[in-house]
Amino acid sequence: MTLKIFNPATGKLAATLPSDDARSVKAKYLRARAAQPAWARTRLKQRLDAIVKFRALLVAQAERLATVLTTEVGKPIAQSRNELKGLLPRIDFFLEETAHALRIRRVSGGRGEPMEERISREPLGVIANISAWNYPWFVGGNVFIPALLAGNAVLYKPSEFAALTGVEIARLLYEAGIPQDAFIALIGGGDVGAALLRQPVDGVFFTGSVGTGKKIAEAVRGRMVKLQLELGGKDPIYVCEDADIAGAAAGIADGAFYNTGQSCCSVERVYVNERIFERFVDAFVGAVRNFRRGDPADESTYIGPLTRAPQLKVLEAQVKDAVKKGARILAGGKRVKGPGNWFEPTVLVDVTHDMAVMREETFGPVIGLMSVKDDAEAVRLMNDTSYGLTAGIYTPDRLRAEKVLSQVHSGSVYWNCCDRVSPRLPWSGVGDSGIGLTLSTEGIEAFTRPKAWHLRAG
Ligand code: NAD
Repeated sequence: MTLKIFNPATGKLAATLPSDDARSVKAKYLRARAAQPAWARTRLKQRLDAIVKFRALLVAQAERLATVLTTEVGKPIAQSRNELKGLLPRIDFFLEETAHALRIRRVSGGRGEPMEERISREPLGVIANISAWNYPWFVGGNVFIPALLAGNAVLYKPSEFAALTGVEIARLLYEAGIPQDAFIALIGGGDVGAALLRQPVDGVFFTGSVGTGKKIAEAVRGRMVKLQLELGGKDPIYVCEDADIAGAAAGIADGAFYNTGQSCCSVERVYVNERIFERFVDAFVGAVRNFRRGDPADESTYIGPLTRAPQLKVLEAQVKDAVKKGARILAGGKRVKGPGNWFEPTVLVDVTHDMAVMREETFGPVIGLMSVKDDAEAVRLMNDTSYGLTAGIYTPDRLRAEKVLSQVHSGSVYWNCCDRVSPRLPWSGVGDSGIGLTLSTEGIEAFTRPKAWHLRAG
């Protein structure tokens, strides 16, 4: 079987890859299962050394890897470079924190007392890492790096839209010294992911849409499998009347349109205090009009094509639905004719929560701006969603920000910033944004199970 990879900027075939099927998935699972105990028995130092080497290879080959990413997902080349560069502090975090996170902890006794109690951290075993295309290095690395360091074998299913990067990840890990059976890439679409879930894996770590996340929860139902789902968002930002309008508009426009709006934590809804609404909208539209759309291989391009062609229809439908219900288009509004998956950066006002654009994940360069009268209304609207990934507020007043953010149901909250991920903080969601977490020390422990030791001196 063959997987065809198309360049989203041109619609042309970019590459083909041999893909997996149910039989090869099973064979790969059996290889990983056989290899995992020996991998878990290696010294942590050996596993850390391999990731240090992986980091060095990544740095040395960053330019070529960025080009591969841009070719298959259409990410503007400057942003592909940023993704690779941004992976380094995450790797450093895992390198620095893993030994501490995996240490054996004595929690009582030990000093001549007859009973000693300890907690150790055991790897889960063989895990399935089913991943998304929008930040394949980030969302993949958040899982496979700590999972491997903790002694798990990883069956990595990159998105079919980022499969070339998936192959590169495997190649680099092997070159860095990770055994070929401790990390295995599975190439193909949802059917290959589904075949992987039919294997008796010990953990499922998924990043993707809520629709697929629900299918995955269904597929493992009734099995004693650790399940993590990192899903989408409808991330709101609230701009207060005392905010720095120009700064907030520039920061939020970037948070909404970076990666052509295809980030799980892209700003997807903006609520602005009515006293500054018109001025904020002018500044925001000005910032959006300045974004340079064009060839993603060009250094100066900011807006690229959508990675997936079917998403064009989703955006068209959201804009159409909004306009039908009374919204006004202040910028963009339609797909760009010609080859490739292009959509104009689009700003809508006079939007309401009756419109899909304010309720359903857009995952593209379209945003709605809505006027609110006070903090209470902003909080109510921010929480009027099935999702809860990130939310933010712009105001110089920290106390006010903390009061608002403490009332928002969301995995991450931002004051005067947005669209931000830190390796030191847990990345998690509320509601349809998922269950479980990656990053932070808890995101290392997530790939282990605690073992309780009751030790009585005989
Ligand atoms: P998707 O759900 O279409 O696909 C994700 C992965 O699941 C792919 O590898 C796909 O092949 C696989 N898959 C599809 N059907 C399957 C099935 N039945 N069984 C097993 N595997 C299956 O998502 P996508 O388009 O790749 O990614 C975009 C979505 O991911 C957005 O909703 C975005 O918000 C979300 N996302 C979330 C985070 C986060 O950290 N919360 C990060 C990045 C992306």
